[in-house]
Amino acid sequence: TTILGIETSCDDTGCAIVNGYGNILGECLYSQNALHVRYGGVNPVHAWELHRDNIDLAVKNALKSAKIGVSEIDALAVTVKPGLLLSLTIGVKYAKFLAKKYDKILIPIHHMEAHALVARMYYDIPFPYLTLLISGGHCFLAVVKDVDSFLLLGQTLDNAPGEVMDKAARRMKLKNIFEYSAVSGGRAIELAAKNATNPAMFQFPIPLLKNRDCNFSFSGLKDSLVRKVLKKESEHGLRGDEVIPEIYDLCASFQASIARHLAHRLERAITFCEMKKLLHFDTKNIIISGGVACNDYIYSCLERVGNKFGFNLYRPPHKVCTDNGVMVAWNGIEKVKKGDTIPLLSISNIDPTASFGLNIIDQVKE
Ligand code: ATP
Ligand code: FE
Repeated sequence: TTILGIETSCDDTGCAIVNGYGNILGECLYSQNALHVRYGGVNPVHAWELHRDNIDLAVKNALKSAKIGVSEIDALAVTVKPGLLLSLTIGVKYAKFLAKKYDKILIPIHHMEAHALVARMYYDIPFPYLTLLISGGHCFLAVVKDVDSFLLLGQTLDNAPGEVMDKAARRMKLKNIFEYSAVSGGRAIELAAKNATNPAMFQFPIPLLKNRDCNFSFSGLKDSLVRKVLKKESEHGLRGDEVIPEIYDLCASFQASIARHLAHRLERAITFCEMKKLLHFDTKNIIISGGVACNDYIYSCLERVGNKFGFNLYRPPHKVCTDNGVMVAWNGIEKVKKGDTIPLLSISNIDPTASFGLNIIDQVKE
């Protein structure tokens, strides 16, 4: 089986061709990051314009690098939710056009399911497993029972960790001390934190410490960071574009607070899974994915928690943790392999949706 996957849910225009063995035959990714760093965030209209300008090139370049034509591909897969509606529409429209022109099956893909499954392309991880998805728009814990069967254990009650790190990087004016247009705010914080001399200099609260559920909250950490920056700015009498001298220590303390919260909730989810026997004894695996999973410091904190309970942790390679066409194509492969889930929907019934769409994901209530 060979599948061409298209991803346009947020600000990356991605296309990849993947086969049933998990080999990437060709791929192309246009990132809009530099533009969003310049303008201080993702602007949906800018994102839409860039997807519109890049989609055809992304698909053609992916096909070119695979040395294959659309007619030789078995099916198309496209992200239909969740995400920015304008952005999703570009990918879905283009995929429909290709599907009609070449008479191909079109498989609708859930962006977060694609994040959660793509590690299986690299590692032999059987179902069920625990997944922690940490990205720019989401944060949740789920038991992945099968390709299309997710049991939601908990999710963020406010912001996502990637979103909070992007906002924090902007508030700390990180781009004034080193050029980070080529990387995200989260990556910039990770790099800055490496220069810290006293990573424990700043104290952050631990969110939801008393909650026994598996939910998350990051808005308190963000507010706490903003207060600390304001305080230091006024202490040093800074104005305009000046960056506080404690920037590296602040980045390290902030990153550690995010890692600590994630680690706490992961520990809670592991205990819950053991208690309710949600995972088989011999398949104790955890997959961490989404853009924030690129963070080596955060990942190593999570790995320590997992290992303490005898779980193996996995994550996709860094460039597959963030948005890309590969995960969409791979999710298509997984659906085709399962057989019974190839949608019999006619193409006109496949529509983009901005919402998370819990209808295909069960939710645990304690
Ligand atoms: P979602 O998947 O929830 O729809 P998204 O697709 O925009 O959101 P991803 O592409 O999966 O998000 O991830 C992007 C996020 O990952 C950004 O917020 C970015 O700051 C964060 N990120 C990327 N690299 C790192 C890193 N090294 N450390 C921390 N965060 C990172
Ligand atoms: Fe994503």
